[in-house]
Amino acid sequence: MNILFDNTYARLPERFFAKQESARVPEPKLVRLNLGLAAKLSLDADWLKSPDGVAMFAGNAIPEGAEPIAQAYAGHQFGGFSPQLGDGRALLLGEVIGADGARYDLQLKGSGRTRFSRGGDGKSALGPVLREYIVSEAMSALGVPTTRALAAVATGEKVMRQEGPLPGGVFTRVAASHIRVGTFQYFLARNDIDGLRVLANYVMVRHYPAAAPAPNPYLALLESVANAQADLIAQWMSLGFIHGVMNTDNTAISGETIDYGPCAFMDAFHPQCVYSSIDSGGRYAWGNQPSIGLWNVTRFAETLLPLLSEDHDEATKLAEAALAGYPERFGGQYAAHFRAKFGLPPEAPVALIQECLGLLDGQGVDFTLFFRHLTRVAGGEDPKTLAVMFSSSEPFEQWFAKWRGEANPARHLAAMRGTNPILIPRNHRVAQAIQNAYVGDFAPFHRLVDALAAPYAEQVEYADLETPPRPEEIVHETFCGT
Ligand code: AMP
Ligand code: MG
Repeated sequence: MNILFDNTYARLPERFFAKQESARVPEPKLVRLNLGLAAKLSLDADWLKSPDGVAMFAGNAIPEGAEPIAQAYAGHQFGGFSPQLGDGRALLLGEVIGADGARYDLQLKGSGRTRFSRGGDGKSALGPVLREYIVSEAMSALGVPTTRALAAVATGEKVMRQEGPLPGGVFTRVAASHIRVGTFQYFLARNDIDGLRVLANYVMVRHYPAAAPAPNPYLALLESVANAQADLIAQWMSLGFIHGVMNTDNTAISGETIDYGPCAFMDAFHPQCVYSSIDSGGRYAWGNQPSIGLWNVTRFAETLLPLLSEDHDEATKLAEAALAGYPERFGGQYAAHFRAKFGLPPEAPVALIQECLGLLDGQGVDFTLFFRHLTRVAGGEDPKTLAVMFSSSEPFEQWFAKWRGEANPARHLAAMRGTNPILIPRNHRVAQAIQNAYVGDFAPFHRLVDALAAPYAEQVEYADLETPPRPEEIVHETFCGT
């Protein structure tokens, strides 16, 4: 056996998934293998690179020990409930135990139709595969909990999309698990309380073992999941990250960022910023993410009501009390991240942060570059580079004087350097990498992935990747490509 699979999800009751073979593709080519992640998972990189390994990544061969299944789930999409979604273009190959002793899912995405495909073809174009590779690995290097990219392959076949026929791809995703809020909702929608209990107990063992000995383990589970979401979204906010499709089926119970579709990092700061072409109402704008997070966790709480107490009113009271902790948890994390970004001590007023964000918004200042320059100023550089970012200098100068009075750069410079990335996967760079890949040039993709492996480090050879887009380079919409 080349991979030591240990598949616990496939041991759950049969109604949790559908056993499923992958589709075969004509001409699989490995675009990129993540060697660092392979080592972390104790996988044999030489085998992964071999024709047998590439056949696995393409779905052309199911390795010994794998038990491919499409997982069942439901979900609220843009607020509307679908009782049946599920893996329509993904297959869970199985689970492996990493070098850290933790359990990880290996999942193929774009590997063909399943019982849950509905009208879809089960495939993925190469563009979304490369986008997820770039952005999820960047998030990991930025220190954000996230699913990871193990491999990207080009399939040699064309898939039909709105833009026309596009080269196909398969993405190999690694996750703490692929259990979503929508997985719980699947069972609630069927009034399958036994299924809910089995799933909740499974999640406790796999993700939140500390909840099990609590007086009410399901309440402790709810609190843990709510805290994980609050912490995660606070981190997204501090990086200007917009998930784009915060549906409950894209909300991982583990607290990892999952499903990089029409996601983006903001260039110019604007709280109502949206890139997703399918989010016409702006539901998932940057500034709405904290409240959407609570909305999603509330949907999770609803699924736990039958387990929290036999008495419905009592269960509701317990759930409401648990959810009441979310705003404070989020607020504390958000303030901590932004204090670090500004080099401010814990006692500094949050109003100073909000005032500055208001200036960035009003004057269309690039979010990442502002903090890059502020960090340089804290390190002793001339504040002129910072001041020129603002078209109207007076309000900035006033704020800057207050910041000087409160900040303690000597003490907090390391925190600033560790929270203000020099590089983010800017939309126009991601778009360029994909466009080039579509005409056979993978060099920009590889260069971007290489650069983003150390987003907080000074890397002079990648200085061109720091800069915001020129007006003609601005990407206004990102697509999920499904
Ligand atoms: P997503 O937009 O990735 O969150 O997917 C939402 C739902 O649509 C999930 O159930 C997916 O499995 C399904 N889906 C997305 N793209 C496809 C596709 N090309 N073929 C079949 N199902 C798909
Ligand atoms: Mg999804």
